[in-house]
Amino acid sequence: RSLDDLDSRVVSCRRCPRLVRWREQVARDKRASYAEETYWGRPVPGFGAAEPRVLVVGLAPAAHGANRTGRMFTGDRSGDWLFASMHRVGLANQPTSVSIDDGLELFGTRVVAAVRCAPPDNKPTTDEKARCATWLDAELTLVAPSVRVVVALGSIGWDASLAAARRAGWTVPRPKPRFGHGAEAVLGAPHGEVLLLGSYHPSQQNTFTGRLTEPMLDAVLGRAARLR
Ligand code: SF4
Repeated sequence: RSLDDLDSRVVSCRRCPRLVRWREQVARDKRASYAEETYWGRPVPGFGAAEPRVLVVGLAPAAHGANRTGRMFTGDRSGDWLFASMHRVGLANQPTSVSIDDGLELFGTRVVAAVRCAPPDNKPTTDEKARCATWLDAELTLVAPSVRVVVALGSIGWDASLAAARRAGWTVPRPKPRFGHGAEAVLGAPHGEVLLLGSYHPSQQNTFTGRLTEPMLDAVLGRAARLR
C-alpha cells in the first residue's frame, strides 16, 4: 500500500464517535475570525516527504488549526513555532505555515500525529489513542525504510512512537525510556538504528510560560537535522 492510499483511508475514518462529533461541530460553528473559511473538519493525514529521514510525531490536530486547514500544524500557534524552528535548522523552506497552498516544503521530513482528529481540550481518551494508533502503525511501516530519526513532541507523541515501534517489531529499550525535553532512545529497526528524540510540545501552554523556548526547540530539531 502507498502513502496516498493510506491518506485516503485516514481522511474518511469515523471510528471515534466523540471526535467525529467534535471535529464536525467545530467545523460548523467556526471561530469568528475564520467565519468565511470552509473548515476541513476531518482526520488530518501526514504531511511532508514520502521517504523521510526525520519523522515528527505530534499529538493531534488543533480545532482551529489543522482541523480548519487540513494540514498538520498549519494555521495555529504550535505550527508557527514548529515550522519556524524547522526553517531555522534547515528542515523547511519557509518559516510560516498558513494554508495547504502556501508553498511550504519540508526537507526529508514528515510530520504526523498520534491522533488524527482534533480532540476537545486537546485531550484524546485512552480508547481514542488506541484506535488511532493503527494509522500511526501503518504510516510508520510505510516510511520505516528511510527513517533515521523520530522526533516526539510531548509525552503522548513519545509514548505513541515507542508503542508503534514495538508493534512494528523494532527493538525498544527496557525499562521504557522516560520522556523529557532532550530525551533520547535508540530503537532497533530492521534497516538499522533509529534515534528517538523527545521535545516538549510547542503548545501555547509551553511556549507562553517559557517551559519551551526557541533555542530549546532548535536544539532538538537541529540535532535531528544533523543526523538525517
Ligand atoms: Fe479515526 Fe483516528 Fe479520527 Fe479516531 S482519531 S476517528 S481512529 S482518524
